Amino acid sequence: MTSLSALILEDSKPDFELVAKQLRYAGFDARCTQVQTQEEYLARLDGTPDVILADYALPGFDALHALELLQERGQDVPFLVLTGVVDEEALVECIRHGAVDYLLKDRLARLGSAVHRALQEAEARRKRRAAETELSKSNRRFQYLVETTGAIPWEMDANTGRFTYVGPQAEKLLGYPVDEWYREGFWDAHVRPEDRGALKAQPSENFERTCRIRTAGGSTVYLHCALSKPCPDGAGNCNTLYGFMMDISELKSMQDSLASQAAALASSNEELKQFAYAASHDLQEPLRMVAFYTQLLSKRYRGKLDSDADEFIGYALEGATRMRDLLKNLLVYSRVSTGKPSMGLTNCEEVFGECLSNLRLALNESGASVTHDPLPIVNGDFSQLGQLFQNLISNAIKFHGVKAPVIHVSSSESDSDWHFCVRDNGIGIEEEYLEQIFVIFQRLHRSDQYSGSGIGLALCKRIMEHHGGRIWAKSTLGAGSEFHFVIPKERQCQF
Ligand code: ADP
Repeated sequence: MTSLSALILEDSKPDFELVAKQLRYAGFDARCTQVQTQEEYLARLDGTPDVILADYALPGFDALHALELLQERGQDVPFLVLTGVVDEEALVECIRHGAVDYLLKDRLARLGSAVHRALQEAEARRKRRAAETELSKSNRRFQYLVETTGAIPWEMDANTGRFTYVGPQAEKLLGYPVDEWYREGFWDAHVRPEDRGALKAQPSENFERTCRIRTAGGSTVYLHCALSKPCPDGAGNCNTLYGFMMDISELKSMQDSLASQAAALASSNEELKQFAYAASHDLQEPLRMVAFYTQLLSKRYRGKLDSDADEFIGYALEGATRMRDLLKNLLVYSRVSTGKPSMGLTNCEEVFGECLSNLRLALNESGASVTHDPLPIVNGDFSQLGQLFQNLISNAIKFHGVKAPVIHVSSSESDSDWHFCVRDNGIGIEEEYLEQIFVIFQRLHRSDQYSGSGIGLALCKRIMEHHGGRIWAKSTLGAGSEFHFVIPKERQCQF
């Protein structure tokens, strides 16, 4: 049973009961309310009945007036007119004012089906209104999104190249009124000739291009244009192109300035490298002179001047020797930085063997024991990898503790890299210095404690950069250090 709240405008009690009975008879679980005056009617409308059945003429109130009141309030309640006598004109007037049907009181058998139909129509209207509200909400949402962001939507006739729509933001961006965009030839007139084809191409997939367009003010704007895949119309033709444009001028000028900064940096870096090489190379000759004559002074005049003079000559000799070592190392560093590594298959067993033979004297003097895992063939520069091993092993010998150095070189592999580790049992390094030691000239000790120039690890780092790999250290102060480095298996030489 359909539940129904019916508002019945009727002055006659028997007629009211007849209508109520008829509704129940038609299968409604009807709650019927009788009203006779305008006040009662308005009060009951607040409860929003499902249907209104109105006697055409009540004393002092009638169906037409009741209809007008209903419409004034904007309520969509099915309104049916009941009449005892047919007055065609009046009834047409009621229908014109929104009544859905009229029935003769002596033919109420039709009431049930008329109310059913009116309810169904009202429900359909309600659904349509809800759909329309949703649609216009969604339209507003999309319109707001599309027309207020920096991405300007556009639509173009693919055959004529004429814009058929552009977002209103276009006017602000380029200074041309939207109407001007719609003129034939607008694009060609304002876009750089070499960029004109960008929007006209009929791509099979989405694609993106950058175009340069002149603004009304005469400046040039870089537009990033995204073009959607052509969308076929009902007849299967792709006559319309759609896309978005975005002003990327700021991004472009940032990119350009980054690129020119990078170029300037690269060239000043190159100059610095050349300078370091030339300086360390050219300083060697005057240094040789200083060392030679200081040695001569020492040979000829030792014991002949006073004891202070002997001491001073000794300091000068020591200084010259230290400077010679420093320049030698700086030159090696400079050569590695400026030179091009000669990459090739390099047998690390051979590299390591050569390194040990170069260090034979230091190994024997310190009583060091060196062991190693089988070492692989890698893609690298033989001489640079030799320098790397030599620096790490000689540091492991140099920075030993009270015990004789025990050094082990291990090697493992992953899918992409070779991983090496040089481990020692030396004095170790405090954790806070583990990165700093790879910076050129950074030493943790005075030269009267441990000799050196602070270039060795910086060189190792540079060599790893050339091989597309990396190097890092782990250590426990007083217990030893580990120097790890990885070399990629794929050939990737960077310098
Ligand atoms: P140098 O050995 O000429 O001082 P490096 O660049 O080779 O320069 O090393 C920088 C610093 O790192 C060293 O002065 C030392 O303090 C520390 N260091 C390097 N290797 C080790 C090591 N195996 N054990 C302890 N300290 C080390």
